[in-house]
Parts: sequence; C-alpha cells; structure tokens
Amino acid sequence: MNEQDTTHFGFEQVPSDDKQRRVREVFDSVANRYDLMNDLMSMGLHRLWKHFTVLLANVRPGHVVLDLAGGTGDLTRLLNERVGDSGTVVLADINDAMLVKGRSKLTDAGHVRGVCYAQANAQVLPFADRSFDCVTIGFGLRNVTDKVRALAEIYRVLRPGGQLLVLEFSELQTRAARPLYDLYSFKVLPWLGRRFANDANSYRYLAESIRMHPNQETLAQMMRDAGFDSCEWFNLALGVVAVHRAWRN
Ligand code: SAM
Repeated sequence: MNEQDTTHFGFEQVPSDDKQRRVREVFDSVANRYDLMNDLMSMGLHRLWKHFTVLLANVRPGHVVLDLAGGTGDLTRLLNERVGDSGTVVLADINDAMLVKGRSKLTDAGHVRGVCYAQANAQVLPFADRSFDCVTIGFGLRNVTDKVRALAEIYRVLRPGGQLLVLEFSELQTRAARPLYDLYSFKVLPWLGRRFANDANSYRYLAESIRMHPNQETLAQMMRDAGFDSCEWFNLALGVVAVHRAWRN
C-alpha cells in the first residue's frame, strides 16, 4: 500500500477507504450521549463557541445556509433563529444516528419551519452549484477523510459572495499550557468517555484527531488553495478552538 492510500485515524495510519467507516462507528457509538459529553468536556464553552460562529456568519432573514456535519443541530438551531421563516437551513451529516438525534432535538425545540435534513458526505455534496449564502462546519472537518475535496465541494455550492465558517479544534497558542492540555486530552477525556458514554476509545480518538488536524495557518492555506478569499481566523480558548472565515469570490 503506498502512502496515498492511507490516512490517519487519530494517531493510527489506516487505509483511506477505512477511515469513513471508523468515523461512522465513533458517532454511532456516541450519538445518544453526544450533547451531554460536549457540555462535560468543554464545561459548557462549546455553546459560546457556536454562538460566536453564528455571530460571525452574520446571516440574515431569507438566507439559505448549509450546516455541514451538523450532527445534533446546535448550529442549525442558532442559524434558523437568524434566517427566520423566509430562510432555510439544511442540516447535512453523513451519519443517520446523529441526524435522527438532531432532528428530534430541533423538532422538540420548535425548530421545524425552514429546517431541512440531508444525509450527505462532505466530499460529494448532493447540492447544485452556487446554492448557499453561507456554509458552516462545526467540529466536522477534522473527521472528513479528504479535506481538500470537501473544501472544493463547499466552494462549489456557495454562491459568489457567500462565506464559509469552520469551527474546529486547533493549536493551543500558549506553550506553557501544553502539558496541562495534554493531561486533560489524553487522561481526562477518555475517562469522561468511559464514565458517561461507556466509550473511552471514541474520546481517545477525539484527542488524537485534534493533534493530527491542520493548525490555524495550515487550514487557512488549504482554504486559500481551494479558492477562498480573505481568509481569517479567530482563536478561542487560547487557540484550543478556532473559527476560520473566508469568502467565495
Ligand atoms: N456540528 C455538530 C456540533 O458542532 O456539535 C456535530 C459535530 S460532530 C463532532 C462531527 C459530525 O461530523 C458527526 O455528526 C459526523 O457524523 C459528521 N461527519 C463526519 N464525517 C463526515 C463527512 N464526511 N461528511 C459529513 N459529515 C461528516
């Protein structure tokens, strides 16, 4: 097998064809406890990060937005509030367990009008060229096998002038805090996973996949290479998380 046929799944090198199946197993396993674990792991901070992302998106009533890898729908809910009944938010995710969870959560919260669902792979989006005013992808890009292809697909489905927001784990900017962050990532996260989701491995994968994900500058360059313009990023929690924003010309 040559190097191009393999990719990383956390710290493990796996056949590229196999990563998608393994990622699916992770989210099949955690879907029911996904929201609880997010609150526990981030001590609620993920809610602020998502609010900030939607604030940056600056979407308006009537806009058509794609929340890619939307999972249990936190960003979709905030976007739906902003685009209103005259707009549309499409929550797209590859995993049916996450989509089912997202749809029932949003429906229970009264977010029905203007929300659509699609089971879709970010690498081959089933949408026409130039269909969206904005695309968000929250904590999703890290899990996609071929990120270059996914960014090209996002570019294709955005209308000229439309913007992409990538909310994702990134590189901690404060060197002195790294030992503590490593301890938290490799000891506390798997422990929380075992204790509250009965699954340490998925949260070990989370910690490893964060370390393997492109840092702020590398991701920005990937976005520029995909054709995006005016790419900028905002570090949150000292860079543990970053929001990248860029526009299609
Ligand atoms: N966006 C949500 C949030 O911020 O809470 C969910 C993020 S969750 C960590 C990652 C999501 O990405 C999962 O629901 C997973 O099924 C989805 N995903 C992974 N690979 C994907 C792909 N190739 N295409 C679309 N979605 C994908």
